[in-house]
Amino acid sequence: MPENILIAIAWPYANAEIHVGNITGSHLPGDIVARYHRLKGNKVLVVSGTDSHGTPVTLAADKEGKPVEEVYKKYHDSFLELFQGFGITYDLFTTTHTENHFKVSQTIFLALKENGFLYTDKSMQWYSPSAKRFLPDRYVEGTCYICGYEGARSDQCDNCGNVLEPEKLINPRSKEGGALELRETEHFYLDLSKLEPDVKMFLEERAPHMRDTVIGESLRKIEAEGLKPRPITRDLDWGVPIPIEGWTEAGKRIYVWFEAVIGYLSAPIEWSQLVKDEDAWREWWVNPEAKQLHFIGKDNIFFHAALWPAELMGAGVQFLQIFAEDERPLTLPYDVPANQFMNLEGKKISGSGNWGVWGRDALTRYDPDALRYYLTVNMPENKDSDWDWAEFVARNNNELVATWGNLANRVLSFAYKHWEGHVPDVDTSALRDSDRNLLAVIENGFNTVGAELEAVHLRAAIGEAMKLATAVNQYLDQNAPWSAIKTDKDEAAKTIYTALKAIDSLKILFAPFLPFTSERLHGFFGYETHLFGEQYTEDVVDSLGTHKVLRYRVGRDTQSVSPNWKPSELSPGQKLNQPGPLFKKLEESIIEEERAKLGK
Ligand SMILES: [Zn+2]
Repeated sequence: MPENILIAIAWPYANAEIHVGNITGSHLPGDIVARYHRLKGNKVLVVSGTDSHGTPVTLAADKEGKPVEEVYKKYHDSFLELFQGFGITYDLFTTTHTENHFKVSQTIFLALKENGFLYTDKSMQWYSPSAKRFLPDRYVEGTCYICGYEGARSDQCDNCGNVLEPEKLINPRSKEGGALELRETEHFYLDLSKLEPDVKMFLEERAPHMRDTVIGESLRKIEAEGLKPRPITRDLDWGVPIPIEGWTEAGKRIYVWFEAVIGYLSAPIEWSQLVKDEDAWREWWVNPEAKQLHFIGKDNIFFHAALWPAELMGAGVQFLQIFAEDERPLTLPYDVPANQFMNLEGKKISGSGNWGVWGRDALTRYDPDALRYYLTVNMPENKDSDWDWAEFVARNNNELVATWGNLANRVLSFAYKHWEGHVPDVDTSALRDSDRNLLAVIENGFNTVGAELEAVHLRAAIGEAMKLATAVNQYLDQNAPWSAIKTDKDEAAKTIYTALKAIDSLKILFAPFLPFTSERLHGFFGYETHLFGEQYTEDVVDSLGTHKVLRYRVGRDTQSVSPNWKPSELSPGQKLNQPGPLFKKLEESIIEEERAKLGK
């Protein structure tokens, strides 16, 4: 029975270009796991979108002196281009600025209110008399009253990670300049304390299969501080309107932390509308058997492992009752395989000092699979990792090119030359023990690599596949078909057939990580099908205007994509296509060239 797998990837803020740390943190691992499950024949839905609201976006617009809508769309378009270049196969990459997302977010809000989890309260907020408006979170900076960090935001300290009470901030100053005063304001709060026992139970149930880093951070924080009520509205005029009369008119909107995560639910609903099957999203969302996997960076663990489940549990059956006259609860996340951070040459990646490797820029000089390879073997799964240009060149040349790329190219070229463009036409019953042994080892790779992918241990998974490529190289060294062909072409044929069959399987084992080159290799073998579908963009019109989305078409022509996570059944005598190299060897000189650009 195919499983329903929802791959939910962190929503990037529309205020900065995406760098390699973001890619290896969430988008790439999500895509690798999605491609694996598609090859297995599971029903996969991959969603995310641009987080278009919130002060990071309005501040970027202020800084650039442009309307906020124009700024969010500029970054959104660059994200779509990047994901196509890297092959991040979103079934839907949309934005939070859509009529559908507004409606779904407002329904969650109303369901929580109906269930008694919302209340209103007054608090003190920084106000700018000259601008005649409240200045939320990032608009006011000051010194953290807990750790003393001088660049704390009024609502949160990025240094110690604590949520702050704005009025306690030391030396508050407005980002816009001008005087500040404290004024009273009223907001809706989500009473998380009432949901604390449910959230703890949710985490304890999942502890056996969740990463220790995720369970540890979430449970530890709840045990130390408890789940405290949090405001879910604020004084800002850009965002999702509050579905209660008078509130939006008063210049308030739903708080971005509360509504952006709702995208994991609203995007599948939008996708269902686009595929013209309105209820399709329920297969992932109203289905206790469905598995939802959240791919995020460590800074977002608490929002995804604790606060988002709290919103869903609090909304209960009332969400579907209001939204679709159904009476079932929504499915809760299955796993949150959060990654740690990737640094660059020993320092934290930073846009302000241009200390980064930016995704779109890197694609202008390197092939996507070369980047995907390095980002996978160096993925910060359990601790921070580091992008190092010398290591990038070394691992590309010594592993990707030398172990895997040369193996495929050497054997295919040899077969193409000596067997007139065909797989050697051997009698498979006459294969030797050493041939059968190699094929058994490769066949078992579908279990070992698959088990690591299933558990989202992606470094281990690709390492396992590379070990198998090494095994094929050793087999070739022992059987030396390059010399055997001169004395006994039949023996050489058995070796080359066996190696080709192993490479045909390795092509699948590598495909989730290296989809572009696996697809090319698939073509060299003469297959007329494709391993994967294709990406495309589409304009969607609603009452808010037009937004562009990224989508994924499973079958390119007809239904040419079929479950493929299984060993090769390569036919002797099969016609091959002219092969070519899969990867490029990189010059050592790029190390210094790339390092020279950093921080400039
Ligand atoms: Zn602090």
